[in-house]
Amino acid sequence: MTPAPGGLPGVTVHATMTDVAAELCPVYGLDERARSALRACFRLAGDDCRQRSRDLRDLLLAADSDVAADADALDAFLQIFAALPETDFAIDWLAELGLAWKRLRLAGCAADLPLRAARALAEIGSRQMLGGRETLSALELEMLNALAAAGMCVAELLGRETRGSSLAMAIDDVVDQGIGTVLGRQLEKALAAGQASAEVATVGLLALRLRLDSSALSFDLVQRDAILDAAIERLRGVLRESDVLVRTELHGCVILLPGLRSQAQVRLAANKVMQVLELPFVINGVVARAIFALGVVWAPDHGRRPEALIRCVELAVETALRTEQSLVIFDQQLLIEAQREAELEKEFLFALENSHLAVHLQPQVDLKTRRCVGAELLMRWRTRDGHDVPPWHIPEVAHRLGAGPQLTRWLVFSACRTLAELRAAGVDIDVSVNLMGRDLMDQELPMLVEQAIKFWRVPPARLTVELIESAVLGDPVAGAAVMDKLIALGVSTSIDDFGIGYSSILYLRQLPLQELKIDRVFVDAMSRSQEDKEIVAALIRLAHGLDLHVVAEGVEDEQTADLLRDMGCDYGQGYWIGKAMPASEMPAWMASWNRQAG
Ligand code: C2E
Ligand code: CA
Ligand code: CA
Repeated sequence: MTPAPGGLPGVTVHATMTDVAAELCPVYGLDERARSALRACFRLAGDDCRQRSRDLRDLLLAADSDVAADADALDAFLQIFAALPETDFAIDWLAELGLAWKRLRLAGCAADLPLRAARALAEIGSRQMLGGRETLSALELEMLNALAAAGMCVAELLGRETRGSSLAMAIDDVVDQGIGTVLGRQLEKALAAGQASAEVATVGLLALRLRLDSSALSFDLVQRDAILDAAIERLRGVLRESDVLVRTELHGCVILLPGLRSQAQVRLAANKVMQVLELPFVINGVVARAIFALGVVWAPDHGRRPEALIRCVELAVETALRTEQSLVIFDQQLLIEAQREAELEKEFLFALENSHLAVHLQPQVDLKTRRCVGAELLMRWRTRDGHDVPPWHIPEVAHRLGAGPQLTRWLVFSACRTLAELRAAGVDIDVSVNLMGRDLMDQELPMLVEQAIKFWRVPPARLTVELIESAVLGDPVAGAAVMDKLIALGVSTSIDDFGIGYSSILYLRQLPLQELKIDRVFVDAMSRSQEDKEIVAALIRLAHGLDLHVVAEGVEDEQTADLLRDMGCDYGQGYWIGKAMPASEMPAWMASWNRQAG
């Protein structure tokens, strides 16, 4: 537990704490699914998490008056605790909490306090979730289980950290963890100075985060830490003496720019920050390109209080991360959108529990015989206030809420149920269901599909799983393993929206696929340009060369259908054939279409 000689003490301590946290998570069953449930729980609790932190303060103070001895240590601990909803119960968050806890222990607080606090908090949480009701939904049950597991895991981590020799850790390392309060105080000082001066009244605040879904994903926590160290080193070279840089988590920092003349200077500084981070980093002799996201705000335009500015800059950097932009400047619209999204998340849970999500089917036809041979299942969601949520947005909302696995389960079961109902109505066609990249990373997906197939007693060969290109190619090895298992079940796999991402034909050859769907942008452009026609022809040849059958999307007129048929394309889907319709309308539609097709 003692820092390596000559190394950065903070980094070493973090790494060992991180190791303990990483070891404990699986013991307490805190896997991806439990984390999802926790995310759902915190999303729904909203501001209550801040309240939880206040509850914890009361509990700690009531249980052990010694914790009051070091008010800063208590603040730091509670602040890290309150950040839980944003951290996704990440291992580095746990490690940080462990460090803050050590500081409290140094102030003399009792060793069994975490366990008592965890129990009490779990009780308050479940009482509030139940709200006097007697029944729980499946998701709520999962949330409660995850909450209890998380509480026990934290208690164990903190308990362990206070045993053994770790208390001998240098006090300086621990004091560094009070950054949240340091930032607050510095910001307050800068704002007061700004208000006192007409000349230099602007205070800038930048939040920088290393994007974990960038190439940095292939680095472990210690390496990511090293990247951030190197980034901060570079930043120090371009910042002024009076600027304050504070590391926020293992993969982020906040930069305070006091005493500026105008917002133009904030923008300039933000651009400079991004510029110096563009060059690759050399970590342990390996060249690494790291992608960063930057959120930008300034006082007084975006807020006059430290808390408001910190919240705005967090929102800006989170938007940058979510929308894959490198730099986002805060504006009021972000707040409005965040509010709307939060409402949508609550509404989603209602929709899932109350069958407000619907499945529609869009027919697919054999271009040679013109007969309908399949249908793509497309989701529809109308909120209680009558607003239609764009279908591509639904998985995003579910994922943010932590209900991604529930949505996938619902989709897979809906696809099989639809197949069963169509068969009962005498309609024997294929049904394809759209899944997300993260579903493909879930080793349990094949089991889920198998359950659904067995439950609805449908022939597996009638089910196709559509995956978009980036999902399949993001991690081709892991993806291929799951796809192999799906194929072993007898299910077909299809690559969706082909041609618009960064496809590697090499990977395509190695993947267990049966179908390729040409994106509608190519099909649409085909009627206008010879080049696009060539692209479609090349894609069809490529697919056939790889033994895949081809579905063209976006067939909007008969001429296009004929052209595609002549080019050798196997199947077509599009508005000319039919728009997506409620599954119950499909048998009648199909009978009428096939009659015309002859
Ligand atoms: P997608 O998988 O590429 O689905 C095809 C989209 O193209 C559908 O839009 C469909 O209505 C539309 N489309 C079909 N034919 C034509 C045509 O001839 N012309 C034009 N302009 N459009 C046509 P929709 O239903 O709005 O879905 C949009 C996207 O939302 C889907 O794109 C898919 O990415 C996502 N989505 C929809 N349902 C699901 C689902 O169940 N799961 C997942 N993961 N994503 C879904
Ligand atoms: Ca699709
Ligand atoms: Ca598509």
